[in-house]
Amino acid sequence: MMSTHLLPLTAPLLGLSTKALEALCVHHGEPAFRGRQIAEWVYRKGCRDFAAMTNLPKSLRETLSQQASVANLKEVVRQRAQDGTTKLLFELADGERVETVFLPYKDRTTVCLSSQAGCAVGCTFCATGYGGLQRNLSPGEIVEQVVYCGSLGKVSNVVFMGMGEPLLNYEAVLTAIHLLNEEVGLGMRSLTVSTVGIVPKIRQLAGERLQITLALSLHAPDDQLRRQLIPTQHRYSVQELVEACRDYVQQTRRRVTFEYVLLSEVNDSPAQARQLAALLRNLRCFVNLIPFNPIHNGSGFRRPGAEGIQRFRKELEEAGITVTQREEKGQGIDAACGQLRRRMASPE
Ligand code: SF4
Repeated sequence: MMSTHLLPLTAPLLGLSTKALEALCVHHGEPAFRGRQIAEWVYRKGCRDFAAMTNLPKSLRETLSQQASVANLKEVVRQRAQDGTTKLLFELADGERVETVFLPYKDRTTVCLSSQAGCAVGCTFCATGYGGLQRNLSPGEIVEQVVYCGSLGKVSNVVFMGMGEPLLNYEAVLTAIHLLNEEVGLGMRSLTVSTVGIVPKIRQLAGERLQITLALSLHAPDDQLRRQLIPTQHRYSVQELVEACRDYVQQTRRRVTFEYVLLSEVNDSPAQARQLAALLRNLRCFVNLIPFNPIHNGSGFRRPGAEGIQRFRKELEEAGITVTQREEKGQGIDAACGQLRRRMASPE
């Protein structure tokens, strides 16, 4: 029978591996397999209530209910677009807020999650960047966003593309990747980490030799423009970033995705497309074009017209670059990163 002395636990159980849950159970006088049962409920069944974990003894359920918690995200706002895209605003235990987006496509269902509350990077076209960084999320807070979205539909892919710069919360993100793979059951190849380009961290991630996808938010083919768009990233040149990505490809054999937000009359000229193509020559990669989604309080940037987008795409393709274009989802809701949280903080 579980001892009543060693609980309460300071952190919720969601965030612990099966091994850690087993050890916890053994430590409290329960057999190790109880840990596996708890992991099954928490990660695969998305159960948030100990009372509903019916294959655990009643006494254990009661002790857990009194002294531990499963998870700690509280849904405070939900917006659902006609295409099924659902944006959730969660409140964390300390009152910080993060956004998660559930995106159903024809052939997959993706969760776009946050790795930090706020963000220190401050990209000029991003709503999250305006408020600065509040804090890093824990592995449990990251993984819980995916488990929670399981109630909206089966999740097949996860992108670390919501609020925050994942590689500036490296250890927690790495632990979350392992939990998503080993506990939630998502393949490594269905996980994508998107970064603005922290070169030493890209090299460290390459050394982990995981089969995840690396997406680099490039947004400009030259240092001067990139410095304007992503002000705190000036320490790494575009050339250094591309070299770090080359290292990632060599070590993992995975293609790198370069994200490029198209901003009218800023980075969308045919000459800039040619410059981008030259930069990425001979690199196993895709370029993912993202026509700008205007943020709520206005940043001064505009979205290029369909013709401009097509022209940019054609230049890249003619230079032999594989191009994808992000399918536009969530029309009518605040679907771009940080929009909902920002609007809830300062309603207009
Ligand atoms: S785009 Fe990403 S890295 Fe840039 S400010 Fe927004 S959340 Fe941070």
